[in-house]
Amino acid sequence: MSWLDALSRIEDLEDAEFDAGLVTDFERRSDVAISRPIRFSTPTFKEYESSELEGCGKNSFPAFSITAGECGLNCDHCQKKILEPMIPATNPAMLDEKVRRLIETEQLSGFLLSGGSNRKNEISYGRYMPIVEGLKRDFPELKIAVHTALLDERRAKEMESAGVDNVMMDVIGAQETIEQVYKLQRPVDDFEETLAALCTTSMQVTPHIVIGLHYGQIVGEEYALDMVSRYDVNALVLVVIMPFYAKPGTFVTPETSDVGRIFLEARERIPDQQVLLGCARPPGMHKRVTDAYAIMAGLDGIAFPADGAVSVAHTIGRPFEQAHSCCSIKVGSDLKIRLQSSFAA
Ligand code: SF4
Repeated sequence: MSWLDALSRIEDLEDAEFDAGLVTDFERRSDVAISRPIRFSTPTFKEYESSELEGCGKNSFPAFSITAGECGLNCDHCQKKILEPMIPATNPAMLDEKVRRLIETEQLSGFLLSGGSNRKNEISYGRYMPIVEGLKRDFPELKIAVHTALLDERRAKEMESAGVDNVMMDVIGAQETIEQVYKLQRPVDDFEETLAALCTTSMQVTPHIVIGLHYGQIVGEEYALDMVSRYDVNALVLVVIMPFYAKPGTFVTPETSDVGRIFLEARERIPDQQVLLGCARPPGMHKRVTDAYAIMAGLDGIAFPADGAVSVAHTIGRPFEQAHSCCSIKVGSDLKIRLQSSFAA
């Protein structure tokens, strides 16, 4: 039975429309996908439960914003809304106090430090680094991730010295996207230089690429993949633009088939490092199809997998595991399930 026929038998996907040519391309490269396990991550900074996997129910990996809801860029795709669910930590003492309290009360295992950027797409974390250093001294097991925005080597080294474990940044591959969506006057090369600076450290480097960032069109994704493929990153995280954060009518939702083709490109250009599907992507049936493509393309992990994801993995014979952590920083593997293939070709 072909993968396309097998997908039509999955109850959660019975109304899904798959691109037959794309599914055939995935199946042609099936050895790439089924030779590696996939991790389904359920981080706890939003509530989660699918029909197949459970959330962990503890606030064990929250995100903090050092600017609360403020940001100097107000990009067209985000309009600062990504900051809203984060826990405000607008001064270093507040971060210290909140983290220590969560360690005591919620068994905090790690956190993401983020925030809005200034008009140059930089975030001033400098005064928070002594707090990070103190937390790592007192709780060496705590995993700390930072969303860096653009920076130079000196600031990358500062984060490394403080004990930051994992750094994330958005890699943008098209000048028009930087200027129009971010309204930022900086060249594409500055994004690559930030990646290069981070890769001079021993921190785990996890760049992100937002598929459809240019108002829902596919414009700079392939060049962004080229940039990432030139560095020894820990993992690449792909996310899909979510137009409901934007002004109505300014963004279209990318076709799932375009997203699936980027997954295929990513897997081919970055064969040896982890390529993960991060938490941001359009919901509903779009998400179910996107997640099915990610599993068939051979991506290594999915955050908040949609209903049907476990069945797709099972159907094509991919082993999987569930982890309660941010997808790009694995801090726990609470439940490991290995499935044998039930797919009969
Ligand atoms: S994407 Fe980042 S820089 Fe742009 S508005 Fe949102 S928080 Fe600010």
